[in-house]
Amino acid sequence: MYIVHIASELAPVAKVGGLADVLYGLSKEQVRLGHTVEIILPKYDCMHFDQLQNLKVEFRELWSFDGPDRYNNTIWSANIDGLRVLLVEPHHPQYFFSRGVIYGCHDDIDRFTYFSRTAIEYLFKAGKQPDILHVHDWPTAAVPLLYKEMYTALGYKVGGTVLTIHNMEHQGRCHPSILNRIGLRGENYLSPDKMQDPSMPNLLNLLKGGIETADRVTTVSPNYEKEVQTPEGGFGLQDVLVQNRRKLKGILNGIDEEFWNPELDRFLIEKYATHALTSEAQVEQMLERKAENKKQLRTHLGLKNDNAPIVAAVTRLVPQKGPHLIKHALTRTLGKGGQFVLLGSSPIPAMHQEFEELQRHYQESGQAAVLLDKDEALAHLIFAAADMLIIPSLFEPCGLTQMIALRYGTVPIARRTGGLADTVFDVDTSLKPLLERNGYTFDFPDAEGVNWALDRALHDFKSERKKWLALLMHGMRVDFSWKHAAPEYLSLYQEAIQKNAKSKSKNATTPKILKIS
Ligand code: ADP
Repeated sequence: MYIVHIASELAPVAKVGGLADVLYGLSKEQVRLGHTVEIILPKYDCMHFDQLQNLKVEFRELWSFDGPDRYNNTIWSANIDGLRVLLVEPHHPQYFFSRGVIYGCHDDIDRFTYFSRTAIEYLFKAGKQPDILHVHDWPTAAVPLLYKEMYTALGYKVGGTVLTIHNMEHQGRCHPSILNRIGLRGENYLSPDKMQDPSMPNLLNLLKGGIETADRVTTVSPNYEKEVQTPEGGFGLQDVLVQNRRKLKGILNGIDEEFWNPELDRFLIEKYATHALTSEAQVEQMLERKAENKKQLRTHLGLKNDNAPIVAAVTRLVPQKGPHLIKHALTRTLGKGGQFVLLGSSPIPAMHQEFEELQRHYQESGQAAVLLDKDEALAHLIFAAADMLIIPSLFEPCGLTQMIALRYGTVPIARRTGGLADTVFDVDTSLKPLLERNGYTFDFPDAEGVNWALDRALHDFKSERKKWLALLMHGMRVDFSWKHAAPEYLSLYQEAIQKNAKSKSKNATTPKILKIS
């Protein structure tokens, strides 16, 4: 199959969060299965260009549209670990992707709708006809709309379109005139059956447009598929998702087991295997190796060298992740004699300041370290060195850090929501068989919930050695690789292709004449 992903992030060159990891891991697995995969991304000035191989100009004169104006774009090609990437560099007076950031500009909607239009224009002009156009979240949700409403009328054909929702919180609400900028007549879409935002009726909603027009829609875990159809999880689009439930499917994300592999991880001082351990003795040996990484982390962060367990959090510091509960977990852990390491980055200045205060407070404590940064190398070391990872999210579409933790022999303590509920099973209370229980969970995102799970974990670490070793062994065995999700995506792609073929034959007798700017 020929698959084209159009996205705003890709690990390790342009990563903000899990979306980047998913693009990387899923595409690599699709390539491994023999499919032809291309990923189209903006050419951000802040990309890690050192990780791109063979960067060269692919298409020099690609004219794209912004309202009545046309702008030239250069399309670059490159490879990342065997993945073929196409980078869109607009020569636009607003310097859309030369801002030193991926998101967070006042005109993000303009930046990503322009990118969406240019990406599909490139595919059209280059004569590329993928079997699947797979887009991700609101930044590229306009692509299926553009395809259905504009490019099919130009005679352009792809097999089918798929939208993956990685997070419902961000939907791309915008004034209808935004669509005029990419060649559609915005006011034509301001109706409930099209793109009108359910809560702000004067605005369009790009994610809704993607849901309505893509042939298939996925969420990043089966539990999130259910949650997005409720008022708590749908962020206003629950009814749209209920109406479109026949084309909706939750597919659990994986992790790239080469990138996240403690046996080969270049960021670790002591590497160790986790998957095939079958005895307590082997787990003890694994822990001795982990202890070398722990020593390294403690030295690096100025933490005291003692037998205390390390509880860690590696996260974006945004309301979704329960930052107040992370703070609470820090205090509680220290109160119970443990150590705490937080690696967090926040795009919210007030939140950053709040955690800077926390950082100052614990700077000299030798028991807690608060690092306000994005640091891939340190994240790997923390996953390897910590004993437990806390994830007290208010909502979590899938979550990758719990899977990474399990892969690194670190026990997750997680709120039972979204994809966390699909992957972390409480050692004491889960209805799963004992062999599948792998962590500690709590239901309510409050201090009592955190205490209930964290206290049990700290107690078992200290006083229930046999139980702890068994828990580690069971957790480390789980295969979270993309081997499971990739075939699910492929069968969904087949469904999308069939659906698209059906709707094409239905529409064959009623050609639409559209104005293209
Ligand atoms: P989200 O996509 O909501 O941020 P996920 O759990 O799906 O959350 O994915 C988070 C990814 O980002 C993981 O690979 C995690 O290791 C990484 N990450 C999060 N915060 C940091 C940080 N401060 N430094 C380095 N990596 C981070």
